[in-house]
Amino acid sequence: MISHSDVEKLRGMRAPGPAVLSLYLLVPLDPVGVRGLAALAEDLMAGAGASGTDVVSTAKGGHADRDAVLGALAAHGRDWLGCTVAFFACQQLGLFEALPLPCVLPGRAVLATRPYVRPLLAAIQRCPDYLVAITGRRHARVLSVSGARVETVASQSEEGPRGRGFGGWYGLETHRIQQRIIQLGGHHYRDTAAILERAVCVGRHVPLVIGGHHDSIAGLLQELPPAAREAFAGSFTADPHALTPARVRELAGPVIQGWVARREQELAGEILGGLAAVGLHASLAAVNQGVAGHLLVAHEGMLAGYVCGYCGALSTGGIGCPDCGTAARTVPDLLEEMVQRTLDDNGPVTMIRDAPFSVAARLRFPVTGRENVTRGADDEGCSDPAGAGRNPWQGSGWVRGAC
Ligand SMILES: [Zn+2]
Repeated sequence: MISHSDVEKLRGMRAPGPAVLSLYLLVPLDPVGVRGLAALAEDLMAGAGASGTDVVSTAKGGHADRDAVLGALAAHGRDWLGCTVAFFACQQLGLFEALPLPCVLPGRAVLATRPYVRPLLAAIQRCPDYLVAITGRRHARVLSVSGARVETVASQSEEGPRGRGFGGWYGLETHRIQQRIIQLGGHHYRDTAAILERAVCVGRHVPLVIGGHHDSIAGLLQELPPAAREAFAGSFTADPHALTPARVRELAGPVIQGWVARREQELAGEILGGLAAVGLHASLAAVNQGVAGHLLVAHEGMLAGYVCGYCGALSTGGIGCPDCGTAARTVPDLLEEMVQRTLDDNGPVTMIRDAPFSVAARLRFPVTGRENVTRGADDEGCSDPAGAGRNPWQGSGWVRGAC
């Protein structure tokens, strides 16, 4: 499973020129479709950096990076059926990484000075790891879901307490949660609730889904301590005895998706209700002034723009930096630059959907100067420029298995 530390590792890599190839590619579920993948990857990669900005003729390094991607596809394509895989390649930096993502994302290739992380962040946020508690009237089990992997992390037997200090629970020894769980006793739902509280806290507040008979769900919910209740994302009803791991994922997945969407909307509402920059130009001004406290990016496409070679200001205009007039360098995606700047300033970044703006930012302070004051309703320029549906990524020397 990819994590924020993967993002940070990638963000630490930078080439002097636009030599880092990032490719997001959806591998079809049908193994027959894998044959056409190389051609699709080549098409996407051929378009990277060709939209008028940072055009790099296909030099030696570019060829090597493309060949490395095609080689990985040929060798591992069948391990990634149904996954979007992110590739990052830059021979100059000794970088090659292939990361299967837990979410399906659009295909895109980008050539830039560093890895392109917006889709990676979106995947982490939209398809988080989560816990599922399956509860019956007499026993319960806890599963952890990460991408396509479903693992039982705790199980309560109906035969009562056994060794290892886990009253009535076994299976924990294979999981890191095991180390943090104390001996429990007493009521069935209370035991389960306590296990869940521990698991939720150890998992850094991963969301929790509860599945089972209606009355068992209600019984368990009643016993949930505050931390677990806060993590509770929703429930599904099912016969606990008939649930295979695959079925658990099928039933819990939509619950998690609903939870993620609700959180996105709540966050957008909360940020728009306070001191905020709304729209591209207001948000650019906020980022340029270093006052963007939390950036929300809703626009999925890329917006080509410019960065001042002197002061680093980001802008949509090509005439030069609006502040100092220095000739600006083109960047393939202003939104990516805004994301990077905000992360550099330790501000959180959230990719959201169904928002009435392309990009918005919670402000630490009001934006000063010019017309780019808060709450500008400018969402112009948000169309995906023709041929710009590409984006970049980087990694460092390895290929991961299933998503
Ligand atoms: Zn400047």
